[in-house]
Amino acid sequence: AKRAGGNQSAFFEAGMGEVAQLRFHLERELREGIPAGQLRLFLQPQVDAEGQIVGFEALVRWQHPGRGLLLPNAFIPVAEESDLIVEIGVWVLTETCELIAREKARGRPLRIAVNISPRHFKEAHFVPWVRDLIAATGIDGHSLTMEVTEGLMIDNFDDVIARMSALQELGIHFSVDDFGTGYSSLSYLKRLPIHELKIDKGFIQDAPTDPEDAALVETILNVAKDLGLTVVAEGVETAEQAAFLNSRARAVHQGHFYGRPEPAEAWLERTATLSSM
Ligand code: C2E
Ligand code: CA
Ligand code: CA
Ligand code: CA
Repeated sequence: AKRAGGNQSAFFEAGMGEVAQLRFHLERELREGIPAGQLRLFLQPQVDAEGQIVGFEALVRWQHPGRGLLLPNAFIPVAEESDLIVEIGVWVLTETCELIAREKARGRPLRIAVNISPRHFKEAHFVPWVRDLIAATGIDGHSLTMEVTEGLMIDNFDDVIARMSALQELGIHFSVDDFGTGYSSLSYLKRLPIHELKIDKGFIQDAPTDPEDAALVETILNVAKDLGLTVVAEGVETAEQAAFLNSRARAVHQGHFYGRPEPAEAWLERTATLSSM
């Protein structure tokens, strides 16, 4: 029952713990903040063995009016509990395709990888929506990589295959994010149209000094080689980590050693020539 003349939100809050209250506020603020234009598209470069930028990963930020610039860990978990993660995904994909289209018009081909949440990927109209977005912006599908996690592969496997295949026909590449941190078997790798494995930064950080992490990284590099997949190593922070990787395989590197995530415009202004993409 609602108190007469009372504020409904204050009423709900009375029975909540502090964490639940923060989440409740964040969800409501995010629901208003997305259409109000508070999300920001950041890009982090991906670099090949010659040090050339070959693409970027899109990483979302939230410019909150009171709390400042928020990182995904402050709001993605809240968003994932509701349809808000779909709204974020729609915003990020739209913004990314429009950016690729603008750069294409300036004669600069650009490849961008976008994180796709399972909830969004499994939405009824995801595939036709992406097809329409690519057509409307006029970009080449191969400018777009979708980063998905092993969690996507857990159920409705036939449906996942069908969706991935349809998106692959548009030229889109698939990358398995945080590869090796999930619990799934590896058999999905040969059944899905996957192009790339992304080694989680957790493995990369200690690889030069920890034999177990080194062995895991080497195993992932071997799996990729045997299956003909490219590799992106995430979270490369030091010359030692880069050297460790370079001594073992040709991989694309991403991490603070090469560049931090920054607003899309900042990277594109600085990178006058992106010829190799
Ligand atoms: P992720 O996909 O594993 O992204 C890599 C994270 O590592 C990013 O954190 C990036 O800023 C960070 N990173 C990059 N290089 C380094 C490094 O050298 N050292 C360290 N310590 N960290 C590095 P970020 O931007 O905070 O994003 C966190 C997670 O949030 C992402 O993890 C991804 O799962 C999720 N996320 C980010 N943007 C989106 C989005 O647009 N949609 C969805 N669904 N999830 C997103
Ligand atoms: Ca990612
Ligand atoms: Ca991830
Ligand atoms: Ca990761």
